[in-house]
Amino acid sequence: MTQTEHRQRTDDAAAQVETTAQVEAAAEAARSAARWWDVQGFRGRRGWLRDFARVLARGADELAGVIARETGKPDDDALLEVMLAVEHLDWASRNAKRVLRRRSVRSGVVGIDQAASVGYRPYGAVGVIGPWNYPLYTPMGSIAYALAAGNAVVFKPSELTPGVGEWLARAWQSLAPPQPVLQVVTGDGAVGAALCRAGVDKVAFTGSTATAKRVMATCAESLTPLVAECGGKDAMLVAADADLDAAAEYAVFGGLGNAGQTCAGVERIYVADGVFDEFVAAVTARVRAVRAGTDYGPMTMPAQAEIVRAQIADALRGGGRALVGGEDSTQGRTIEPVVLTGVAPDSTAATDETFGPVLVIEPVADLDEGVRRANASRYGLGASVFTADADAGRAVADRLDCGVVTVNSVLGFAGVPALPFGGTGDSGFGRIHGDDGLREFATVKSMTVTRFATPLKLMTMRRRRRDVRVARIMLRLRHGR
Ligand code: NDP
Repeated sequence: MTQTEHRQRTDDAAAQVETTAQVEAAAEAARSAARWWDVQGFRGRRGWLRDFARVLARGADELAGVIARETGKPDDDALLEVMLAVEHLDWASRNAKRVLRRRSVRSGVVGIDQAASVGYRPYGAVGVIGPWNYPLYTPMGSIAYALAAGNAVVFKPSELTPGVGEWLARAWQSLAPPQPVLQVVTGDGAVGAALCRAGVDKVAFTGSTATAKRVMATCAESLTPLVAECGGKDAMLVAADADLDAAAEYAVFGGLGNAGQTCAGVERIYVADGVFDEFVAAVTARVRAVRAGTDYGPMTMPAQAEIVRAQIADALRGGGRALVGGEDSTQGRTIEPVVLTGVAPDSTAATDETFGPVLVIEPVADLDEGVRRANASRYGLGASVFTADADAGRAVADRLDCGVVTVNSVLGFAGVPALPFGGTGDSGFGRIHGDDGLREFATVKSMTVTRFATPLKLMTMRRRRRDVRVARIMLRLRHGR
């Protein structure tokens, strides 16, 4: 598809904009559908969601085609996205009961007369607001888990990728559920804001940090809880003993894959001094072999190219050197790969999310310095460590301020549905995926049931002095020794 066709497709699709009244009607319908969905129970929902996964798997090529058309990414990348999204849907539907069913907890000595348990209830209607870079995989991390936890969902895809949302809505409707458990509303940021105000019980947002702040302010108006999955400035650390070829291969994939438009993509690389030149040679040789426009597509959002260009210019102005490409690489919407080094720590290329095919590689004395530099970021989404010593890798990984980390690979967590995903700092809060991702879409309900009349009666206005004496002795014996 040519860039003109791509623009035409997204312009056409963006023309369908839901009004505030339509968004409110969708939220109202979702609240009512949520009651029906709740009654289906874990088993009933699992059946529906597995049917949904089947429809997605059977339509994978068609859905991947929509993703590729709207984002400009290669067909194979789009198909991989569908595959990962279906894995998450399947995992969420199979694990919701295990994670969210009511479970007993110990009552303890003081509450021994009570049978205590913790249960999870769905919120009701969940508004999901998604980005354009992985327009299926990313929102499915919220949609699948919210549905499996018993909520109805109203999904607002990015205005650049509405077709993916519409495809999903049609796929759900093809199952002919009697209630609108999954609905899609399309439009721009105003539609997203309307969704936050439409009376949904929780909002799951994935997008930039700047927009997350606006979404949070809107949700604050009605105290609507929010899970925010935002951008990153992920660091890769390469130790002197690392397999440099493997690290270079992953660096190039993590940095240039999807044209760098990956929230947890590799943007900064800190390499042990002794192997810096060898690593840089391995990376630059691979980067030169990458074909922009074939191995990865254009910037999905045209304005992103200018952000990438400005960061490269800022890096070079501040004394940085381009090892591959440079400012000229950003002419047009398909950006040629760029590798920078010697970038000033306060340059936007070192501090801000680039979201383009740009790698910044810097030498460090050792992994300790690498950890310090990696942690000197306001973002905290993902990171990776490369070393031959897996134990040392784990220890370093533990010291990195981020939500997801890999040793000797990048993005390894994407294909593991059991792993919670999310960040710290400017990368947001809350978790999608895994057990925590299911709990994110449920409210906690604690319960006690009196199981016998205790001889020690402390919860009464007619407390006996003897009982207080016994309580005092218990306190001393249990905690005062
Ligand atoms: P944006 O923040 O621009 O938009 C995200 C979504 O929010 C879009 O659907 C957008 O609508 C909508 N939106 C915009 N303004 C408002 C508003 N005021 N109220 C409610 N909704 C609004 O992000 P991008 O789409 O540009 O996505 C790229 C960003 O997403 C990057 O920063 C990336 O790192 C991050 N991301 C994070 C991930 C994670 O899991 N941590 C995963 C994937 C991406 P519209 O597009 O129609 O304007």
